[in-house]
Amino acid sequence: MKRTDRRETFPGLSDNANEFTVIRSSRKTLCVTVGAGGEVTVKAPRFLSDRRIREFIAENSSFIEKARAKALSVSDAAEAAGPYTEADIRKMKDKAASEFPGIVKLYADKLGVSFGRITVRRQKTKWGSCSSGKNINLNILLCDCPENVMHSVIAHEVCHLKHMDHGKDFYRELYAIFPDYDKCRKWLKDNGSLLNRRYELYLSSKGK
Ligand SMILES: [Zn+2]
Repeated sequence: MKRTDRRETFPGLSDNANEFTVIRSSRKTLCVTVGAGGEVTVKAPRFLSDRRIREFIAENSSFIEKARAKALSVSDAAEAAGPYTEADIRKMKDKAASEFPGIVKLYADKLGVSFGRITVRRQKTKWGSCSSGKNINLNILLCDCPENVMHSVIAHEVCHLKHMDHGKDFYRELYAIFPDYDKCRKWLKDNGSLLNRRYELYLSSKGK
């Protein structure tokens, strides 16, 4: 948040609705986000009226409620499962080091492409990425996913060694080397935020 941004807390629209935070800045449009703990934040142009902001919240109430319900259920599930422990993280790192290179090679060989360095780190919003220098970056949390899901992300990134975009050719090739792709993608969509949340709990348990 920039120093000139202004942050305010608004009461909810009804008695049982949660309060929300409004951040005013030099932006031109309104947008609403729901955080991992279910907190609602509206970003608004500096001089927009409070009335318009409340209307905007009302117009988007069904999206907000759905997103809050999802965030809270993930957050409950993460509390129940607990934060990752040092031992969990160590196990994931070992698994990444011992298995990622072989899996990358498996799909690279299928496509007949070469690759550069493989790096492993935790990224908040990405399961993997591929650079134009043919280096592949993979999320450490893939090591807490089912084996086929881990494979699906690696196959995806390896396909980028041949096609840098997500065009038709990219997907044709991806489905050819990994037919179960959609099923794995769905698993990530349904479960990925729980893994992320548990990692965040781990970080905060260490005071990071
Ligand atoms: Zn991609």
